[in-house]
Amino acid sequence: MKSKRILGLKTGLLILFSVSLALVSCKGESKPHGGHWSYEGETGPEKWGELSTDFEACKIGENQSPIDITGASAADLPALQLNYNPTNYEIVNNGHTIQVNLKDAGKLVIGEDSYSLLQFHFHHPSEEAVDGERFPLVAHFVHKADDGELAVIGLLFSEGDKNALLSSVFANMPGEAKATVDGEGTLNPSEILGSELGYYTFTGSLTTPPCSEGVRWIVLKSPTTVGGEQLAAFKKLFPMNARPIQPLNDREIKVSK
Ligand SMILES: [Zn+2]
Repeated sequence: MKSKRILGLKTGLLILFSVSLALVSCKGESKPHGGHWSYEGETGPEKWGELSTDFEACKIGENQSPIDITGASAADLPALQLNYNPTNYEIVNNGHTIQVNLKDAGKLVIGEDSYSLLQFHFHHPSEEAVDGERFPLVAHFVHKADDGELAVIGLLFSEGDKNALLSSVFANMPGEAKATVDGEGTLNPSEILGSELGYYTFTGSLTTPPCSEGVRWIVLKSPTTVGGEQLAAFKKLFPMNARPIQPLNDREIKVSK
C-alpha cells in the first residue's frame, strides 16, 4: 500500500517535471511550433519570417502580397465566369479577421481553369493599394483548384452606401476569437461581386503566414461600397489587419481591356 503511494507520487512528480520541461522548451524554442502571429509588435509582419521555419516565405519570398497595383499593362484577359450558387454560410472570428465559410458555393472559371470558392474574409484597410492608395476595406474571395492552386478575387470597398448584400454578415460578426455563428439565410457570391468584372491580375502569395507563393491574384477594378456603421463594426473588432505593401520585384501586373 505504502510503496504504491510512493510510486504514485514519483510518477506524479515525473509527469509534472516533464510538463514543465515541455512548457520551457515551448517558450524557449517557439520556431517549430509557428503558432502566434499578429499585425504589430514582436509578432508583427516584420517578424513573421522568423516566427516559424514554416513561415520563411514571408521573409525570403520574392513574389509576396499585397502589392501596390500601378503601371499595369492592358491585356486581352479571359473573362471571369462566376458559376456560383446561393449558399449557406457560417461567420468565423479566427482571431485575425472575420471569415465567411461557404458550403458548395460553386466555381470561378477563367479560360481553361476552374476553382471552387471556399470562403471570403476582410482586411481593414485594404491590403492592396491602387496607385498608392489603400481603400478602407477589401474582401478576399479564396478559391482552390483540384490541383491545389489558389486563386483569390479581391473586392475593394469605398465608404458609402450600406452594403445590403452583406448586411447579415456585418450584423452578426462574433466578437470573440475562435467563435463561429451560423449565417442567416443564404449568400449569393455572384451578387456580392457584382457585374463589373474588369480586373487586375498578377501572381503573389497568401498575405498571412505562411505567406505561401503561387497564388493567382485577381483584383476587381470596380469597388463596391460599405456603410460607415458596417465599417465601424469591423474596425471595432480589427482596428488594423493589413500586411504592409510588398515589393513587386520582377512581376508584371496586367489589367483587362
Ligand atoms: Zn486576405
